[in-house]
Amino acid sequence: MLTLTFLGVGGAFAKRNYQSNVLVEAWQQGPQQQSAPDETLLIDFGTTGPLALHTLTDRPGFEYLRNSGQVDYRRIRNVLITHLHADHVGGLEELALMNTYILGSSVNRPPFRPRLISSTDVLRALWRESLRGGLGVMHGRPARLEDYFEPVPLMPADPRGNGIPLTDHYRLEVIRTRHVTLEAGGDWPSVGVRLIDKRSGRSVLYTGDTQFNASGHAQWLEEAELCFHDVQLTDAPGSVHALLSELQTLPESIRRKMVLYHFGDDWDGAAYGFVSREFAGFAVPQQRYDLFP
Ligand SMILES: [Zn+2]
Repeated sequence: MLTLTFLGVGGAFAKRNYQSNVLVEAWQQGPQQQSAPDETLLIDFGTTGPLALHTLTDRPGFEYLRNSGQVDYRRIRNVLITHLHADHVGGLEELALMNTYILGSSVNRPPFRPRLISSTDVLRALWRESLRGGLGVMHGRPARLEDYFEPVPLMPADPRGNGIPLTDHYRLEVIRTRHVTLEAGGDWPSVGVRLIDKRSGRSVLYTGDTQFNASGHAQWLEEAELCFHDVQLTDAPGSVHALLSELQTLPESIRRKMVLYHFGDDWDGAAYGFVSREFAGFAVPQQRYDLFP
C-alpha cells in the first residue's frame, strides 16, 4: 500500500494553508495494521514544512514521526526536491541540522543522512545556490552536501536513469517539467514525480510546480490513475504555474482524475465551486490518499 499526505496544499504565499509539500508512505499491510510505514519519502520541504510536519504528528496515525515532543526527522528516509523555490526547499536546513546536532549524533557519531533525490542539475544547484549558506560548516570544518544527505541524482531524460525503487513494490521516477524558464535559453531545472506500482504497472503523477503543458505531459497524464496537479486560480500573463482556465481545456477523462494543489487562499470562495464538479477537486491537507486502492 502506498499513501500520500499533503503537509499543506497552498501556494508559495498562502497563509490559510501550509505550502505544498507531501509525505509518501509505503506499507506492507497498511496504516490500520502498522504503527509505522516501511518506507517514507518527503516530496519537497519548504519554509512552512517543519511546522506543518510538527502539526501532522498530532494526528492519529502519524505519532511515529514524533519523539519527545518534536519531529523525529530520522523517520524521513528519503527527500525528493522538485526545484529550488523556498516553498519547496526552505525546511531542509532544519531537517539537516536536527539530524546532525539534536537527534542522537555527535562529533564522533555521524548524523543520520536521508537519501536526497532529484535530477542531477537540481541537486547541484541546491547545494551551491541554496543550502551551502546555512550548512557549509559542520563541527568547525567545511561541510558538503554528502555530510547531511546521501544524494541520489537521477536523469529525467533517460528511462534507464530516471528512477529508483521504493521498497520492493513501488518505483519512483522523475520527469522534466517547465516551471521557470530563461528567455536566453538554458534552463532553470525542475522535475515532477511518477509513482509506479511495479506489480500492476499503475502510476500516479505528482507534477510539482509546472506551467501548463498538455502536449509535453500528455503521456503521463493519460497513463496516470490519479494526478496531483499544480494550479494557479487566477489568470496572469507569463505565469510559471498551470492556470485553472488552462486545465479546464483538458478532456473530462483527464480532469476527473486530477486533484489540484498549490492554490491561493481564496480557493474556497463561491467562484471556484465548479472545481469539485469538473476535476477530482482541491487537495485536502493532512489526510492520507491511498494511491493504488
Ligand atoms: Zn516554484
